[in-house]
Amino acid sequence: MSMNNQGRPTGVGTSGFASTSGSALLPNEPLLFEIGDTEHSGVDLPDVTISTDRLGGFERKSPLDLAGLTEPEAMRHYVRLSRLNHSIDSGMYPLGSCTMKHNPRLNEKMARLPGFSDIHPLQPVSTVQGALELMNQLSHWLMTLTNTAAVALTPKAGAHGELLGMMAIKAAQDAAGQSHRKIVLVPESAHGTNPATAAFLGYSVKAIPAHDDGTVDVQAVKDALSPEVAAIMLTNPNTCGLFEPQVIEIARAIHDAGAFFYCDGANFNAIMGVVRPGDPGIDAMHINLHKTFSTPHGGGGPGAGPVVLSEALAPFAPVPFVRKGSSGLELVEHAEGDALGRITAFRGQMGMYVRALTYMLSHGGDGLARAAQDAVLNANYIKARLAHAFSVPFGDYPTMHEALFDDSFWPAPASPRSISPRR
Ligand SMILES: *Cc1c(COP(=O)(O)O)cnc(C)c1O
Repeated sequence: MSMNNQGRPTGVGTSGFASTSGSALLPNEPLLFEIGDTEHSGVDLPDVTISTDRLGGFERKSPLDLAGLTEPEAMRHYVRLSRLNHSIDSGMYPLGSCTMKHNPRLNEKMARLPGFSDIHPLQPVSTVQGALELMNQLSHWLMTLTNTAAVALTPKAGAHGELLGMMAIKAAQDAAGQSHRKIVLVPESAHGTNPATAAFLGYSVKAIPAHDDGTVDVQAVKDALSPEVAAIMLTNPNTCGLFEPQVIEIARAIHDAGAFFYCDGANFNAIMGVVRPGDPGIDAMHINLHKTFSTPHGGGGPGAGPVVLSEALAPFAPVPFVRKGSSGLELVEHAEGDALGRITAFRGQMGMYVRALTYMLSHGGDGLARAAQDAVLNANYIKARLAHAFSVPFGDYPTMHEALFDDSFWPAPASPRSISPRR
């Protein structure tokens, strides 16, 4: 048997490759250590003579114990794994209840334009004016769709946006001498990230009960208000797929108590182009670009959670942001006045910005409204067609972007049950 320089026999013990026919969740691809072993080696590198030891005694004393594969074996392993990647050609992106999963190929093409994909965050701004213009336009669309005064593009996920929005609320209250406000109201129907965000910032979380129909109990909100309350974090449309019908009354009560209204806007695809969240009085809301404005995420790519801010919170927006200067667009990188510092490295997820703006421009304002209406129609269609097979826990209202079912009526009744929307 031939030996290599490390005294290991060359050639790898296990020769057969498992097939990759397993499902994507259970890939039938063995680990590198199952394909090869540490006793053998698939390569034979020349001896290296190290003249000066520059490791200061930190050099490895024992063998690395890597599986000794040949180059083709290692390469084929990774190529087989890469073929398990999900793509828009092989299926839809199934992730996320509130997730709008149409990911047009056009977005991908735009995101790969060299002027967007090959630029470096440390390039002089005079050489990336197009990218800044794209950020500027995206900001404009987000503020117009929500009727708000400012937007922070950089948070990299919905939860990250929540953190930023609540930091802005905290900063505004600290600046106004209101630091004693330590309570955040969170309805029971909220997404789990809402109470987590409030707790992370040191607030105590007070849960607000929901009615049996799945909507927030406004009287319970009013009863919970006090001079200690900093904000409410309300998901609208909520996690039951319902639009909170009393959102205006909630906003009024919150503001009357001197608190801020944070809205979790991850489900914005149900209302974009139809309702502007700034109108009922929302002060801060994150928008999941990776849900509402396409941009595959989960297995497919990163996220982006821009936060829109009301007039009252706009001075507390973080850096960096784009502004028109005397010689074109400039990037404000250092906090002035009350502005928060940065919450991400560099400019956030440029590739997501490109996809989101492409989606907006290719739909137009009317097309976005139509996409929202179709999403709602589809969810209600599914709810109606499956109502005979499952029970519909919150069947009183027409649903928004998603419908909830449970199996409490199992076994299924023989004939389709009718559902009668109340409004
Ligand atoms: C997805 C989601 C979030 C969190 O967004 P991430 O990008 O996953 O951090 C928050 N709230 C709601 C209602 C969501 O659906």
